[in-house]
Amino acid sequence: MKIILLGAPGAGKGTQAEVICAHLSIPTISTGNIIREALKSGTEMGKKAKSYMDAGQLVPDDVVIGIIQDRLAQDDCKNGFILDGFPRTIPQAEALDNMGIVIDKVIDIEVPDEKIVLRMSGRRVCEKCGASYHMLYKKPAVEGVCDKCAGALVQRKDDHPDTVKNRLKVYHDETEPLKAYYEKQGKLVVVEGQEEVADTTRLTLAALES
Ligand code: ADP
Ligand code: ZN
Repeated sequence: MKIILLGAPGAGKGTQAEVICAHLSIPTISTGNIIREALKSGTEMGKKAKSYMDAGQLVPDDVVIGIIQDRLAQDDCKNGFILDGFPRTIPQAEALDNMGIVIDKVIDIEVPDEKIVLRMSGRRVCEKCGASYHMLYKKPAVEGVCDKCAGALVQRKDDHPDTVKNRLKVYHDETEPLKAYYEKQGKLVVVEGQEEVADTTRLTLAALES
């Protein structure tokens, strides 16, 4: 199954991606994580992406499309995948269509803007492996320490409140039109993000069956 997760930054795409990944045994491809990895290892692409990312802007289409093309060509994507954070613009969606990739389902996780701002302030990521946590909704076993690799949990620069507002604007302007794009293709399923992660998870799993 080939799945796209749509939704505002902080809507919980990453968490739901993990759920689907465990349920269907297909890999999650997160462009945000790939870019942050490139940034850490100091590649050219990483350097180019940094200024956009820190400002809450989108990295240019050609850069992310290149990343996705390389990643989807790898062996583990043969039986399907979950795209978390791609596409984020109409040209990115068109590029995917032009690669001949047939998406089965687009799950759109809806969370109102006010809630997003609150959620983002509590978000933390592992410095080492990129796993994500939340100080209220998804606590690690030991405060400040990653369950998976014992790395330190930090706040992403782009999760600061001013940048979050920027990212929400970019989301509404650039990414939200994708809902209509996939609705027209008959692939869109809407999931209302719930207060409790487990409740959202239940809705996501139901959406997969629909
Ligand atoms: P979130 O989903 O919480 O916004 P991500 O980790 O997916 O966070 O993305 C972080 C940043 O990485 C984005 O704000 C953007 O700068 C860049 N990025 C990730 N995916 C894309 C994409 N498909 N197109 C353009 N920029 C992207
Ligand atoms: Zn970790």
